[in-house]
Amino acid sequence: MKSHKTALVAGGAGFIGFHLCRRLLDEGLEVVCLDNLQTGSLDNIQKLSGNPLFRFVNHDILQPYSGLQRIDQIWNLACPASPPHYQRNPINTTKTCVIGTLNLLELAQMHGCPFLQASTSEVYGDAAINPQPESYYGNVNPIGIRSCYDEGKRCTEILCMDFFRQNRVNVKIVRIFNTYGPNMAVGDGRVVSNFIVQALGNKPITIYGDGSQTRSFMYVEDLVEGMMRMMDTPAGFTGPVNLGNPDERSIKELASLIIRLSGSRSALIYQPLPSDDPHRRQPDITLAGKALGWSPAVPLEDGLRRTIDYFKKSI
Ligand code: UDP
Repeated sequence: MKSHKTALVAGGAGFIGFHLCRRLLDEGLEVVCLDNLQTGSLDNIQKLSGNPLFRFVNHDILQPYSGLQRIDQIWNLACPASPPHYQRNPINTTKTCVIGTLNLLELAQMHGCPFLQASTSEVYGDAAINPQPESYYGNVNPIGIRSCYDEGKRCTEILCMDFFRQNRVNVKIVRIFNTYGPNMAVGDGRVVSNFIVQALGNKPITIYGDGSQTRSFMYVEDLVEGMMRMMDTPAGFTGPVNLGNPDERSIKELASLIIRLSGSRSALIYQPLPSDDPHRRQPDITLAGKALGWSPAVPLEDGLRRTIDYFKKSI
């Protein structure tokens, strides 16, 4: 019988996890998806279930997992990532980052396999420099409403680095900037899905603050390509590496673009800016270019068109 490499994807039922699982299956790996379905969806699982190499295990990484004899790589994407979701039960968010990542790192050590951590641009907080290179230590409020996620993810990074230095685990850290694409949940709560759902229903577009804050949006397939390349780097290359699209846009600009591309009649309405909402965010991707030969390929308009088409079919 043919023996396939086995990838364990924690958080594989979520938006990015789904795309990663699909890519790994396309590459011929056996994929075991661990997810507690807190924000991941069974719909995503069902879309992958036709593939005999795919298996879903309903499991919360707060508990150690020991269901597999062979694991060749571990990907840790398990954590609610949209602000309304990670703020709903912030204590659980911190626990998932700290205890969950610890459990998976111990598993990677036991299996002697590489471990990729999905970290985030949130480790830079409300950045004082723009764009943000990996060498920037960040400007994070340790006691605010975003801290469970920001500090939680910073803690995942230090756990990775100490498992690398102390226990020689082959860790890889990617810092993921705002990502969008098909298969985002309708109720995800992040800006791209909110605006598209509102625009398609000709409902008011909810701009938080005055809309002058910026983000840089990456199409999900570009991200998955970068993650695959990161996993393929030699042992000893830990990152962190920024993965993002440097095309920086204001939130107001994003709203106008989505209204135009979806042919919507929506008006803009303004709501209070949540506290600690970063003012500017743009990745410096020099390192990703040098170390991975990676840069994003999908322009924002193209990616948004594909995402709008997806939402048209799914709402
Ligand atoms: N935002 C907005 N309207 C929404 C959702 C989000 O104006 O309906 C803003 C939010 O305040 C932030 C930006 O869009 O400045 C990106 O928010 P998101 O929740 O997508 O991700 P973040 O980068 O803040 O984690």
